[in-house]
This record gives sequence, structure tokens and C-alpha cells, in this order.
Amino acid sequence: MSCVLVVEDEPAIAELIALNLRHAGFDVELAADAELAQLAIDKVLPDLVLLDWMLPGQSGLQLTRRWRQDSRTRSVPLIMLTARIDEADKIAGLDAGADDYLTKPFSTKELLARIRAVLRRRAPDALDTAVEIAGLRLDPATRRVTRRLEDKVREVKLGPTEFRLLHFLMTHPERVHSRAQLLDRVWGDHVFIEERTVDVHVKRLREALAQAQGAGFIETVRGAGYRLTQYITAPTSDTVG
Ligand code: CA
Repeated sequence: MSCVLVVEDEPAIAELIALNLRHAGFDVELAADAELAQLAIDKVLPDLVLLDWMLPGQSGLQLTRRWRQDSRTRSVPLIMLTARIDEADKIAGLDAGADDYLTKPFSTKELLARIRAVLRRRAPDALDTAVEIAGLRLDPATRRVTRRLEDKVREVKLGPTEFRLLHFLMTHPERVHSRAQLLDRVWGDHVFIEERTVDVHVKRLREALAQAQGAGFIETVRGAGYRLTQYITAPTSDTVG
């Protein structure tokens, strides 16, 4: 589940955004000013920040600049929310390092669409970095997946969808992802694909991983979705309950 930090000083707007994001399957953290936002981001790095421009004390623009100068927060996806409609302000926001810009009032539908678009655009950032969990290694540069078992290294052969699915799960481990979330994050805009399709590819992925004693990496969380775990247990059933 993706976590969104919402920085907004007007409680009614903050609550409305939080409600809609939670309904859409996001985890939401709220912060009412720049100082509280800094405390929140120091504690947990969110997957995305929604940041109001006009805040008491330090502005959203100043906060964006500060975060973009810090290596830890430099690449956190960030959408600015503002009542300002001036072209110069929009450019200032984007120049400061915001990924997108949304002018109030906005519809929930548009907000969610922008969030998904930013998360998708940001995803390729991680495409070059190899990721390894409990001996399972996925290298996007060479498109190779291997499993280290004691002294031996076994190759895991995957189709392109299983590869993308495993990549997403490995870069978001230990979290439960619903089939709808996986469709959105792994398949992208292909809304015509049925959620059952996810089960089919999870099954194939497990079968491939089983060749390297790794079927237990992918857990089914009954009624909720799937999770990649480093704490491998006995193989679980194939579908979401
Ligand atoms: Ca405000």
C-alpha cells in the first residue's frame, strides 16, 4: 500500500483528501504545517507528498526547495496544491522540484489520476537498481532474476509480466497489495484487464520461483491481496480469498 503525506493547514480540506485517498487504497499521514511535515518525513519516507502552497510559517514552496536539497527526500514524488493560478507561481513550483501542480478547487477524480500518473512516472527511477531480498536478486539492467541457495546461484526464468510483478513486489516488500493496486501499479492504464489476471500471473510467478525454492516469497493475504516477504513460510494458496 502506498503512503501519501498530506500537508494542508485547513482541516476540512485535509480530512476530505484523506478520506478520498484512504477510500482509494492509500495510507495517509496528515501534517498541518511545514514543521509537522518535516517531523513526519523524518520518521517515514512517504511514497508521495501532497503539499499545500499556502501554509502558516514556512510555505510549501520553501519546504519543497528544502526537501529537494536533501539526498534522503530528493526524489520523493511531490504534487503541489494551491489556490494560486498565476503562471509564474506554477513555474516557481515546478522549478522548486514539484512533480505536478493542482489548482484548488480540484475534483477527487483528477487528484487521484494525477497521483497515479506521478507514481507511474517516478517508478522508472528505480528501474536500474538491482534489488535483493533473502538471496533473491532481481537486476533490471540485465533482466535477470537469481536465487542464491547456500553456494549455488540458480536462475529464475520469468515472462515480462511476471518480471514486472516481481520487481514491484520486491521494491515494496512486506506490504499487502490488493489485486486492484497491483493492476494499477504493474499493468498501468490497462483498465480492461480483469483482477483475476493478477492471480494467473502470481501463480506463474510462484511456479517459476518454486524452481529455486522460492514459492513462499509471495504470500496470499486472505481477503486482502498479495505480499512479498523475506520471511519465507510454507507455500500458500494461489488466489485472494
Ligand atoms: Ca493553506
